[in-house]
Amino acid sequence: MNVRTRIAPSPTGDPHVGTAYMALFNWAFARHYGGQFLLRIEDTDTARSTPESEASIFAALQWLGLDWDEGPDVGGAAGPYRQSERREIYAQYAQQLVDREQAFYCFCTKERLDRVRSEQQAAKQTTRYDGCCLGLTADAVAQRVAAGEEHVIRMCVPDVGECTFEDELRGPVTIPFSQIDMQVLVKSDGMPTYHLAVVVDDHLMGITHILRGEEWLNSVPKHVLLYQYLDWPMPKLLHLPLLRNPDSSKLSKRKNPTSILYYRDEGFLPEALLNYLGMMGWSMPDESEIFTKAQMVKAFDEKRISVGGPIFDQAKLAWLNGQYLRQLSASEFIAQTQSWMFNQDRLSHLIPLVQERVEKFSDLAPLVDYLVGARKTLTPDNFLHKTLDRDANVKILHHTSALLDDLRHWEREAIFELCQDLAQALDLKFRDYLFPLFVAISGRGVSLPLFDSLIFLGPDLSRARIRGALDAFSVSGKERKRLDKSLVKVTALLSSGQ
Ligand code: GLU
Repeated sequence: MNVRTRIAPSPTGDPHVGTAYMALFNWAFARHYGGQFLLRIEDTDTARSTPESEASIFAALQWLGLDWDEGPDVGGAAGPYRQSERREIYAQYAQQLVDREQAFYCFCTKERLDRVRSEQQAAKQTTRYDGCCLGLTADAVAQRVAAGEEHVIRMCVPDVGECTFEDELRGPVTIPFSQIDMQVLVKSDGMPTYHLAVVVDDHLMGITHILRGEEWLNSVPKHVLLYQYLDWPMPKLLHLPLLRNPDSSKLSKRKNPTSILYYRDEGFLPEALLNYLGMMGWSMPDESEIFTKAQMVKAFDEKRISVGGPIFDQAKLAWLNGQYLRQLSASEFIAQTQSWMFNQDRLSHLIPLVQERVEKFSDLAPLVDYLVGARKTLTPDNFLHKTLDRDANVKILHHTSALLDDLRHWEREAIFELCQDLAQALDLKFRDYLFPLFVAISGRGVSLPLFDSLIFLGPDLSRARIRGALDAFSVSGKERKRLDKSLVKVTALLSSGQ
């Protein structure tokens, strides 16, 4: 069999280490069996997908050195590889499902659906579409569509019985149909949902093995039904374990930087990050901890994947990276540090920030230490200030971090405006408001200009430092909830332009 695997990231936000993890395993699987590895962009969520995010997925995977045989940038016989360019294809299959009465038009309003959900919740039932529009005649549907009534297309799901499918890593899995919703397949804007698009694309792109995160396991019955309705063979499924924070919760950026580019900018080697991800739920037959991606491909055996939640541990990753750095020859080390930071391009951005401020070359390093090196670990003492108390510091860091996370374009003007507006909304003098941010970014209250520093460091390091600065304060879950609430109010104030 010609093996074909894929990853299908959604271009929303930063490229996630979870995407790198899935990419590595799909890539290694395809390469081991001499097959193809595809990159498909799942951008049907038009409100959240951005071209910047797509570009950063490419950049991150290229930096890691995982090459794909087919994809939006390299093309291929099964393209297009961007779901937003495949609308007609999905529409055609959605129509086929409707014609065969395996899917139906649904005109229910949001209010009605909310009411049904609340009633089901009150009765302690599984929340699920109640089938209201299932009985509509073809004529009634045609009339309402012609009248321009808003609608979606949902798939039919039996009320009784159960779905049993095989996960190659877990064995047979059984889920009763009563727990499966009559999933929307085509949204009111005409875009397919993930569930229709993933089935259609995996089939048309000839995917033989789906390796993806275990969070999709509960969706499989919907996919099994769609494969049956469309008379298509089901690809083999391997649901990999989710990466976890050291406290076993699902990997989250609050507890661990999750952007792949953070690791690049922080000075990790792509080989070390890949090696580390390769150890997540998998091991080499001889249990060796240090291995290249070529060695992983050679030794790859999906039977060695374990489904227990692997812990993504920064200290272990740093240790591994250190091993790689020590293995380099002096000339390789020089070349690597140059390509990381000490190159013409980086220096040409750095020097204008300091040239005016130095008297001797030896003044340089202390000024830029936090731009070319890690920021020191912070304690509440670093935030002592004449007017800002602990809570004010915490609020500024929390709100700024959340707003910067959502900022699409990392541009000086946009960041400056966001900060100015927030300072105003919090009723703070701009200078005072900026103080904790200086500390978060540079480790001290006075440094090179803040906005220049944010631009030089880039979004991934800057966001991680501001978010990480909150760790200096013990913020309880309750306090965090309060802060989240306050942020909602502040955001409303900001968007109302007051
Ligand atoms: N777009 C989905 C994701 O972001 C893909 C899931 C899958 O691989 O089927 O995780």
